[in-house]
Amino acid sequence: MARTRKPVVEVRRSQRRRRTVSAYRDGERIVVLIPDQFSRAEETEWVARMLARLEAREERIRRTDDELHARARRLIARYLPDHARTAVPESVRWVNNQNGRWGSCTPADRSIRISHRIQEMPDWVIDYVLLHELAHLVVPSHSTAFWNLVARYPKAERARGYLEGVSAAAGLVMAED
Ligand SMILES: [Zn+2]
Repeated sequence: MARTRKPVVEVRRSQRRRRTVSAYRDGERIVVLIPDQFSRAEETEWVARMLARLEAREERIRRTDDELHARARRLIARYLPDHARTAVPESVRWVNNQNGRWGSCTPADRSIRISHRIQEMPDWVIDYVLLHELAHLVVPSHSTAFWNLVARYPKAERARGYLEGVSAAAGLVMAED
């Protein structure tokens, strides 16, 4: 999502703080609390880090089940228009009890579940995981026909590489399903 403008940042130094940094939004402003002993360089570094963290948190909150549904509709219209009927899920939702998989699909009841682990990943990665599951509503197996559908998404390979990298870095054993 594009940011229309930079937030106003107010840095507050505290003598009581030794190491901890925190940030919160106060209307249009973002307040960053840092230890008084921080150098200018540390201040710059931490302000950038806290802004990114806050933005990711706000982004995650916007990523609701409704948004996931809307995203599914957009992906179907764009990449699976010839399967507009079969690719539409009955339900699609975020879940946090799915440890070994990024996403999963039950063709029998046309339900799709997407792991909360990808909730803070870039949009194009979420799109890939969701499109992968939508394609399973059309072709349940990992057959050539299935991968041909997935390949319609231009960043499919890049997203698979991204997910592999995340799994490796975190020592997770995650499978595509
Ligand atoms: Zn799959």
